[in-house]
Amino acid sequence: MKRPIQKSITVLWFTTAFLAIALVSSFAASKDKKDEKPDPIPASKLFGFVLKGAEQKPKAIGYYTRGCLAGGEALPVTGEAWQAMRLSRNRNWGHPKLIRFLENFARDVRDKDGWRGVLVGDLSQPRGGPMLSGHRSHQMGLDADIWLNQMPGRELSYKEREETSAVSMLDKTGLAVNKAVWTDNHVKVIKRAALFPEVQRVLVHPAIKKALCEAAGDDRDWLRKIRPWWGHHYHMHIRLKCTEASCKAQGGTPAGDGCGKPLDYWFKLLRNPPKPKKPSGPPKKRKVRDLNWMPAACRRVLKADNPPLLKATELSEGIELPVRKAVAGSVVAKEKSE
Ligand SMILES: [Zn+2]
Repeated sequence: MKRPIQKSITVLWFTTAFLAIALVSSFAASKDKKDEKPDPIPASKLFGFVLKGAEQKPKAIGYYTRGCLAGGEALPVTGEAWQAMRLSRNRNWGHPKLIRFLENFARDVRDKDGWRGVLVGDLSQPRGGPMLSGHRSHQMGLDADIWLNQMPGRELSYKEREETSAVSMLDKTGLAVNKAVWTDNHVKVIKRAALFPEVQRVLVHPAIKKALCEAAGDDRDWLRKIRPWWGHHYHMHIRLKCTEASCKAQGGTPAGDGCGKPLDYWFKLLRNPPKPKKPSGPPKKRKVRDLNWMPAACRRVLKADNPPLLKATELSEGIELPVRKAVAGSVVAKEKSE
């Protein structure tokens, strides 16, 4: 049995030790807090919130999947032979080269290819950059999605532009075009896009590429630019060449029309789509793609002429979306009253 004095010494010792540990760990925790940096803001949030283009010399910067756009120009939402869709997204911005191309392309389609005009889907955000939703590319103002159903013969309302669905060109098998919607004019319109020298490539679903291969006849050079890719049966994706020192060009498309073996390979993939890899081990935290992930020049693009909503990076998309909608809505209203 311990004597009382010995017992109290033991108690005192334990209490001191406990207090010391508590003190050290609380000090460590406070130091941790000081060292902790705020979470980096994803570049998609910064670029997604800017409402207007940067008033700079037009330049495509970086690459299609990692870049931005200086001097972006908005495609008028209603044109001679086109109407822009999904206005709330505010993605009807592009390099002036892209806007000129779209105007010429739409006019040609109306005058020569039997369509009333085109419905234009996403181009880029006002200053390009990564987006909060959707595309990986479309970042430097040189990409455009064109719907595969022609423009109706009247001006669509803002609401219709938000809610009207594009039409898939595929039949039930998903491996061939649907003859009920696919027409000879589709061949003409897609060929028209590929014939523009400034166009680098046009992405369409493999089944559409196959239909084009079958319809092309002897004139096959343009088929080289038509590249099969997943999706792309509601719209085609037109990409312009990068011709400036500020951007990186994409490698040319392989020689030949791409109709034989390369297409067979795609049909094998469509029948047996690759299964997503099962992650091994605990889920890895994805690194935030902040401004450091972007080309350095994109900082200047983002900050040029202090865009009004830059401070809104704290806002959630849910709050900011109505603002964008209101802006887009007023654009439509303005164009109507003019
Ligand atoms: Zn696209």
